[in-house]
Amino acid sequence: MEQMTRTGLAWDEWFMWHVTGVAGGLVPYGNYVQPHHFVEDPEPKRRIKHLLDRSGMTARMVPVKVRPASEAELCYFHTPEYVALVREGSKGEGGMAGPFTPFGTDTFEIASRAVGALLECVDDVIDGKIDNAFAFLRPPGHHAQSHQGLGMCIFGNIAIAAHHARYIRNLPRVAVIDYDAHHGNGVQEAFYSDPSVLTISLHQRTWFGIGGEISERGEGAGDGSSINIPMPSGTGDGGYIAAFERVVIPALRQFQPDIILVAAGFDISAFDIVSTMMVSSEGFRTINQMLVDAAKELCGGRIVLELEGGYNPWATPFAVLASIEALSGVRTEVKDPFLDFTVGSIDNQLLDHQAAVIEEVRVAFDL
Ligand SMILES: [Zn+2]
Repeated sequence: MEQMTRTGLAWDEWFMWHVTGVAGGLVPYGNYVQPHHFVEDPEPKRRIKHLLDRSGMTARMVPVKVRPASEAELCYFHTPEYVALVREGSKGEGGMAGPFTPFGTDTFEIASRAVGALLECVDDVIDGKIDNAFAFLRPPGHHAQSHQGLGMCIFGNIAIAAHHARYIRNLPRVAVIDYDAHHGNGVQEAFYSDPSVLTISLHQRTWFGIGGEISERGEGAGDGSSINIPMPSGTGDGGYIAAFERVVIPALRQFQPDIILVAAGFDISAFDIVSTMMVSSEGFRTINQMLVDAAKELCGGRIVLELEGGYNPWATPFAVLASIEALSGVRTEVKDPFLDFTVGSIDNQLLDHQAAVIEEVRVAFDL
């Protein structure tokens, strides 16, 4: 009998207490914009945790310690000046950490714990205490830059974790896959000239003007180690699965990573409110299963998912649960009630203009 997978879960209720305040969703309120929440609001993400609990998934997972990252760890990626800005601002009422990045009281402590929780997941997987892990983090981190926050992200959770795996734990090769709807700019910037860290970002092309063109492919010794797959708006399960089959998995096989880190953004869901992609919970299950299988083939099963975007309060929980089911090998009895709305659409299949983008990337990187 195959041994049960030990899947870690890093979670802290305090993550949900990071305050982003009042806004018109993505923009400041005022004039004709009626006040509402800022879009990166805790309640949709807390509802994900509620489904993990209610489905019995939480009880099947191994709790991972949550601890604050040290300032030295934060400075693997960030400047001391930026870390100080967040630290000092968090003692009062907060402020802006960068464009589209409000923060509040205690955000420094909370965001430091998000980083520390992810580092613990990485350590526990490397040390064999668990087989793989899901880091249920908030605030998200993949847009944060060395000198400022960006796009709701305070600290670069995954960039710091990749540095930790590569240069503190001394793994020779680290792969980072980012399937959030928005470009994974932070980790790309951190390792742009470093051939020992492969970064692959799939995202909605030109979305929010963050970048991620095919031509951004690394520089110097790192040329070819940044892969961007800018998918057209409306890409669904077929397009994402094809991109994984034709680019992501071949690139991983060529690179031979020692660990796979995943910036798991659920805003490519068909029901998400900030992006216009079409992925269903079964699409998430499939692409994550492909990554889990690649990890088993290439690096002893070592894979860590960390939560980035995902803003629909009722559909996102099912997408995350399906992904954790792929990670853990545990199938709960939960059926996604939103699935039929998505998979019945012809636009959920691979379309020609999506295949053309994937082919352009495949050729550019000789995969
Ligand atoms: Zn996003």
